[in-house]
Amino acid sequence: MKRPILIHPDPRLKKVCAPVPDLSDELRVLADDMLETMYDAPGIGLAAPQVGVLDRLIVLDCVKDEAEAPRPLIMFNPEVIAASDDESTYEEGCLSIPEQYAEVTRPAEVTVRWIDRNGNEQQEDFGGLWATCVQHEIDHLNGRLFIDYLKPLRRQMITRKMQKLKREKARA
Ligand SMILES: [Zn+2]
Repeated sequence: MKRPILIHPDPRLKKVCAPVPDLSDELRVLADDMLETMYDAPGIGLAAPQVGVLDRLIVLDCVKDEAEAPRPLIMFNPEVIAASDDESTYEEGCLSIPEQYAEVTRPAEVTVRWIDRNGNEQQEDFGGLWATCVQHEIDHLNGRLFIDYLKPLRRQMITRKMQKLKREKARA
């Protein structure tokens, strides 16, 4: 089932999310719903607070080539346990900040540890778009948005645009 995506500014997008103590059917349904919502948007990543749930859960799939098999990843309690000194810059966007894009510089490679849908611990090295995406999504769990990396003026401009968009949506 698709879930509505919160649009910035929203206090729930600024909260530090709580670790998931135990997996439950309810959490698995939430993860599946988030993947459905993400693919439908379409997007390459989504964090639980973006659908109003303050749990440490993200989903992502950065396979861009349509000829390639999709690779949906569900990560409970994801943690960056190592990051490269090398950095890379990508133009980022966010489903909670529609149609706004900006360059963000982050470590080019990260090692992430998480609990998968079956409750098993996983660890993997990510590079390229995957590295950027997984860091962007984990940031959401700490109440941090990609626009928080921008200069205040640019961030305020984007926030004002989003406030206007929300007013228009509320009126429609
Ligand atoms: Zn985002």
